[in-house]
Amino acid sequence: MITDAEGVAGICRQDQTEPKDPELRQLLTGEVNAAVEGFLSGGADEVVVWDGHDGSQTLSALTIHPKAKLLIGSLGVTMTLERGYAAVAFVGQHSMANVRGGIMAHSYSSLGIQNMLVNGKPMGEIGTRAALAGHFNTPVILLSGDRAAAEELRAIVPQAELAAVKEGLGRHTCLSLSAPEARALIRESAIRAVQKLGTIPPYRIEGPVAIQIENTTRNSLPIDAGLKPGAEVLDDRTIRYKGKDFLEAWTRSRM
Ligand SMILES: [Zn+2]
Repeated sequence: MITDAEGVAGICRQDQTEPKDPELRQLLTGEVNAAVEGFLSGGADEVVVWDGHDGSQTLSALTIHPKAKLLIGSLGVTMTLERGYAAVAFVGQHSMANVRGGIMAHSYSSLGIQNMLVNGKPMGEIGTRAALAGHFNTPVILLSGDRAAAEELRAIVPQAELAAVKEGLGRHTCLSLSAPEARALIRESAIRAVQKLGTIPPYRIEGPVAIQIENTTRNSLPIDAGLKPGAEVLDDRTIRYKGKDFLEAWTRSRM
């Protein structure tokens, strides 16, 4: 389970996403634990939860579901997917940059990245992480987050279970479920998701793959950016990495 902050029910303002904010911690932990409960009662035997928001400082072993395992820290390019998980889920997920009605929409970094394209298609955390999981033949079976994030996963994995816990009227204007309603929805969706395992295909992007990253205005590329393997500088802020498959292009873009 990949967790984040911006897609949690009741989180709408930037200041609420401070990783140690007490209300964020409670709200996110409640949603994570609801998903864990759903997975376990649907038949999963192990649930690993990665604290994926801003430096892995939000979740705690004191309050995480007693039967879940907590993964803390940065994970490197493969996100530990080589361990061969049966499935991946997103909880608290936001949509990619530039999506209208996406609550605090961004692709990895709202200050650093304007736009990300994979083989010419805009993608953010949902698309790239689904493709990374797909490289290891692992399907994404559940996403909870705002409606825009749910639609983003639906577009690439229509079979996945989606729990839209709030609707973005604007970047910082939300219509949200209460925490108890959001948790109930997530629990039910997680049960269905794990029961559908095997019918949800991994999301695979076949190679060759090009990943293009356009930085924001103040983030000119370093002078030697074009020397990195597979890299091509397109303009002062935009670079494209090519690879024989998704993992190679992704690894080059993250080094
Ligand atoms: Zn994020």
